[in-house]
Amino acid sequence: MSEEQASRSLNFIEQIIEGDLSSKKHETIVTRFPPEPNGYLHIGHAKSICLNFGLAKQYKGKVNLRFDDTNPDKESTEYVESIKKDIEWLGFEWQKECYTSDYFQQLYNWGIVLIKKGLAYVDHSSAEQIAQMKGTPTKAGTNSPYRERSVDENLALFEQMKNGAFENGTCVLRAKIDMSSPNMHLRDPLMYRIKHSTHHRTGDDWCIYPIYDWAHGQSDSIENITHSLCSLEFEIHRPLYNWFIENLEIYPSRQIEFARLNLDYTVMSKRKLLRLVEENLVDGWDDPRLPTISGMRRRGYPAAAIRTFCAKAGIAKRENIIELSLLESCVRQELNKTALRAMAVLDPVKLIITNYPEGQTEQLTAQNNPEDEQAGSREIPFSKELYIERADFLEDAPKKFFRLSVGRNVRLKHAYIINCTGFKKDEEGNLLEVYATYYKDSKSGQDVSGIKPKGTLHWVSTQHAQTAQVRQYDRLFMNQSPDQTETDFIENINPDSLSIIDKAYIEPSLQKSKKGAVYQFMRIGYYARDAKSDQLVFNRTVTLKDGWAKKNK
Ligand code: ATP
Ligand code: MG
Repeated sequence: MSEEQASRSLNFIEQIIEGDLSSKKHETIVTRFPPEPNGYLHIGHAKSICLNFGLAKQYKGKVNLRFDDTNPDKESTEYVESIKKDIEWLGFEWQKECYTSDYFQQLYNWGIVLIKKGLAYVDHSSAEQIAQMKGTPTKAGTNSPYRERSVDENLALFEQMKNGAFENGTCVLRAKIDMSSPNMHLRDPLMYRIKHSTHHRTGDDWCIYPIYDWAHGQSDSIENITHSLCSLEFEIHRPLYNWFIENLEIYPSRQIEFARLNLDYTVMSKRKLLRLVEENLVDGWDDPRLPTISGMRRRGYPAAAIRTFCAKAGIAKRENIIELSLLESCVRQELNKTALRAMAVLDPVKLIITNYPEGQTEQLTAQNNPEDEQAGSREIPFSKELYIERADFLEDAPKKFFRLSVGRNVRLKHAYIINCTGFKKDEEGNLLEVYATYYKDSKSGQDVSGIKPKGTLHWVSTQHAQTAQVRQYDRLFMNQSPDQTETDFIENINPDSLSIIDKAYIEPSLQKSKKGAVYQFMRIGYYARDAKSDQLVFNRTVTLKDGWAKKNK
């Protein structure tokens, strides 16, 4: 491949980085992932994590995990811990664990630097007045009456602010830039607000807290971040990001914007996720229906599938919506390679093999994963009475129904070929039992019967079966963009997003399953043993892409 071809396949961020490395602007790169600890991470954050950690790895650089903890009312240590756990689970390691709150003193000192340069002032206008004086994108703003305060007065007032002399909302510190700038963010943006709140790390040390624009770029600079990657909505903030750095004459980190990841059939903002949790519309932040990392983990999504999905979604400069079905197909692909196979019957009906000896049990050997030799094998007990799926028998079956109907042959997975001989119904016409005979010489692995049935059914032996609760999860929302409709997004919740099967029959080997382990229930789907419950509870991870079901309808 020519160099030109190689560079064309790089995304625009990789191109910038390679340029900076080859021009020797940087020897190594340093990126950061800067979550605010005000909620659990979601798949959008995974995108940013894969990008920041991925680039650091690719270019042998470093990546910091920085908690952007400047809003004490909404943040907590619980969130900090969950974020660390999720990043580790995704398979990434950070070089340094940083907190914006560790820079509060430095930020305060830099506030003084700007005041001394005549580039910041304490404004006693109310929030409404400030908003009014801001103007509009087409109309210049007006200067605050406090804008021309002397340096000394500002220094004294700023110190008083810090020392707690003022109530919340009394005054703010603003940068003095340009009230008629076409960029609204340059119209004397706020730097500090007063907030008498206890912070989860700094306690009551501070009662002034920095605004995002003032804290973020400066934190990047303190950590010598070379490439500060953020989502597109911050593009308009970039001139301010640079203004602070230039006027403080500190390390010039570079902000680069990329498009957020949006996913259909879900909501992603932490504010909305919090509402679902607080209103008990879901079972906590790790509800398997949520797009949170912890929810996906509990649902059985492998970390590798999430990483593959983020890579496939790509890095773009324009917003777009990615289909949930792409994520699901990444999950299926990964689980097909890794999930152990097992048999479970979710909607049981009894099948009696009339010519099989009463009281006899055979232990059949079954491969755990046909895609992976290393996965070994297990034993499955077979006997005269089995459970099969109700839908696998039809009284009046169409020709292409390759399952059970009187006179038809099917193979029982890992066991024998059987021939359906009859069935029993109750007075209301409900199917009670199905009868069949087996071909003794058709045992899997040593079949000499010469019979070639088209269908294979899964089953469990009634006397050996264990029972389990199975939770059938579906999409949480009915609409592709649930938060873009005219109604409150809560109205768009799918009423059938969870249905619970209290008594499914599972093969006995699953009694030893580990919490969190994911299985392929053959012919049904992928299921994860719930990590929270001590009982046998299985969460549906994703359905099988079942061409079989479609073709035979
Ligand atoms: P939310 O709006 O969901 O609360 P946020 O952007 O406020 O998200 P932060 O904790 O501030 O959440 O984000 C940490 C990092 O993750 C930021 O760099 C942010 O740009 C990035 N990020 C958040 N959501 C997405 C997304 N959907 N796609 C890509 N990156 C994202
Ligand atoms: Mg945020």
